[in-house]
Amino acid sequence: MGKITGFLEIDRQERRNRPAADRVRSYREFIIPLSETDVARQAARCMDCGIPYCHTGCPVNNQIPDWNDLVYASDWEEACRNLHSTNNFPEFTGRICPAPCEAACTLNINDNPVTIKTIECAIVDKGFAQSWINPQSPPQLTGKKIAIVGAGPAGMAAAQQLARAGHDVNLYDKQAKPGGLLRYGIPDFKMEKKLIDRRFEQMKAEGVIFHGLVHVGVDITATELEQSHDAVLLTGGAEVSRDLPVEGRDLNGVHFAMDFLPQQNRRVSNEPLGDVQPITAAGKHVVVIGGGDTGSDCIGTSFRQGALSVTQLEIMPIPPKHEDKALTWPHWPIKMRTSSSQREGATREFSVMTTSFSGEDGHVTQLHGTEVDEKFEPVPGTEFDLPADLVLLAMGFVHPVLEGMITELELDLDGRKNVAANTDDYETSRPKVFAAGDMRRGQSLVVWAIREGRQAAHSVDRFLMGKSDLPL
Ligand SMILES: Cc1cc2nc3c(=O)[nH]c(=O)nc-3n(C[C@H](O)[C@H](O)[C@H](O)COP(=O)(O)OP(=O)(O)OC[C@H]3O[C@@H](n4cnc5c(N)ncnc54)[C@H](O)[C@@H]3O)c2cc1C
Ligand code: SF4
Repeated sequence: MGKITGFLEIDRQERRNRPAADRVRSYREFIIPLSETDVARQAARCMDCGIPYCHTGCPVNNQIPDWNDLVYASDWEEACRNLHSTNNFPEFTGRICPAPCEAACTLNINDNPVTIKTIECAIVDKGFAQSWINPQSPPQLTGKKIAIVGAGPAGMAAAQQLARAGHDVNLYDKQAKPGGLLRYGIPDFKMEKKLIDRRFEQMKAEGVIFHGLVHVGVDITATELEQSHDAVLLTGGAEVSRDLPVEGRDLNGVHFAMDFLPQQNRRVSNEPLGDVQPITAAGKHVVVIGGGDTGSDCIGTSFRQGALSVTQLEIMPIPPKHEDKALTWPHWPIKMRTSSSQREGATREFSVMTTSFSGEDGHVTQLHGTEVDEKFEPVPGTEFDLPADLVLLAMGFVHPVLEGMITELELDLDGRKNVAANTDDYETSRPKVFAAGDMRRGQSLVVWAIREGRQAAHSVDRFLMGKSDLPL
């Protein structure tokens, strides 16, 4: 423990955002990092609790008190090594993780948790700036060949671990570049894509071979991959969006969020949009249906494109402002949260349901809705209309795409139609085929995808070699 009285003397200090009026004029990241001295002061607030609840709050079990102590003691290089021992990509989580670790921090009992995510991000950013993060070549090659389908955070983490264990790793994705939703879903203003490119350079140097624009189950069969590799790991995400089958759904201008967001990310990266109808919020009244991360990303993107107004509808009731710590801590509490995108000027409505859309000349112009009670039943007399030139459906994802790869391999599914596999070995119902990330657990978080990728890598390595030294 660095400074015994640190938590008593030093106030919590978070990174600040550039002002909304300024940041909406570009797609660049807008978080202003703390100075090194301030990060070290924040690390000094860690109490090094006998039971560090933050460890269990963090899905990759980052050794948070250890690296807090190292940062306080100015040993940033060792902090960087320690951080990478549990997390392949702290530069991603340090930017976009919701930080369940901070909810679990003992200092959160009185609403002042250690700024864990800020410290994590500062360590890895310094690590890259100082060239401490370099390719790690395996001590020896095994001659075993592994195919990983899906280059999102789960597939990337698994690929890096397996290449470091000496295997020959082929990472396939139907998209041109690796990253999955990190690249094509999450907007640049939350995480710039050069960070994925930089990390992937390291992975290439470690031996990972990326095969872009290969849609497994369409361009090549999954069975071909199975026959030409010693093991196959499926990390294809949960790509089927939840739909809203109401009258007017087929009007032009009503789109899934994931038809809208990837287009902007491609524009920012100068990637071709392909054979799709361009969708933009410029000059439009936008309504976003759904209150999660995806909805927030639609709001921030719409403002940057020049929307006239953005309204977000949520069927759930407005959550409490503060959680009851006695009931929730150290778990993730349900409470009112306002994302940086929502702060850019969105109007938010809770306990409302969309009943239909109407329009002119085949294009949506109005959304019709009603308030709902606690059983999600319409409340008579509360019907309303909203101007809507663009409606974005951001109500989550139901399960992976089943047609193609999963059907062809005849894999067992769980009750929610995700690929069935447990977290002891990540094996599917088919020999030598494994599954991890959103494709196995359902729609989740980047940090959970990294955890599953790492654990699945351990299991694949043990399956191929009879034992594994990769961390679990
Ligand atoms: C808009 C949006 C914003 C989000 N924001 C956050 C956030 O702020 N913080 C957070 O922690 N999480 C966030 N999430 C969730 C997070 O992105 C996912 O949980 C995470 O990316 C899942 O990782 P994955 O590797 O399992 O799958 P994905 O990231 O979905 O990657 C799957 C990859 O598999 C490829 N693929 C699928 N099928 C095939 C096939 N048959 N052949 C070849 N390739 C295939 C896809 O092209 C894709 O690249 C967000 C999600 C969305 C949609
Ligand atoms: S990965 Fe997420 S939960 Fe873990 S330490 Fe970082 S911010 Fe916290």
